Amino acid sequence: MQTLITLPYAPDALAPAVSAQTLSFHHGKHLAAYVNNLNKAIEGTPMEGLSLEELIVKSSAEGLTAVFNNAGQTLNHNMYFMQFSPKPKTAPEGALKEAIDAAFGSLDGFKAAFNAAGASIFGSGWVWLQADGEGKLSIGKYSGADNPVAHGLRPLLTFDVWEHAYYLDWQNRRADYLAALWQITDWSVIEAR
Ligand code: MN
Repeated sequence: MQTLITLPYAPDALAPAVSAQTLSFHHGKHLAAYVNNLNKAIEGTPMEGLSLEELIVKSSAEGLTAVFNNAGQTLNHNMYFMQFSPKPKTAPEGALKEAIDAAFGSLDGFKAAFNAAGASIFGSGWVWLQADGEGKLSIGKYSGADNPVAHGLRPLLTFDVWEHAYYLDWQNRRADYLAALWQITDWSVIEAR
């Protein structure tokens, strides 16, 4: 049984990157539907007691499409919404800073590569910063509900490039939406992950 997360900020706190209207639909309608549909798909089965990560790995391996799509979208959105703040820490420090510099040269180099990857995803999907078992970072491009967890990688940071994430605020300007998200991305959350 999964529950809809409560957002840790006011509905209008992320504007203008993400408006209150977008949050209302994206969290209150889209994410709520994924959570409800996931619970319907696992109700009365042994999967009821599994974590989101366990549900993603199991449904991916066994081809359980409804469980995979709704568990993946629930985890993706939970991590997306919880990484934002109206007063974010604007740059990583410590081990995460060192890993980003090692993989991408600098924070600006990482952001540019991340934005380009997100802009280049065809159709609906997600761009992720992910780590392998040794802590080496990479950028992942995923379609639909797919994510790093399904591929044995650790999910750290994600931008949603489904049109429902930005069309009310940015229309077709996905690149502008991606650039604006850095203003609300809280690196203290990413460090903790
Ligand atoms: Mn979404």
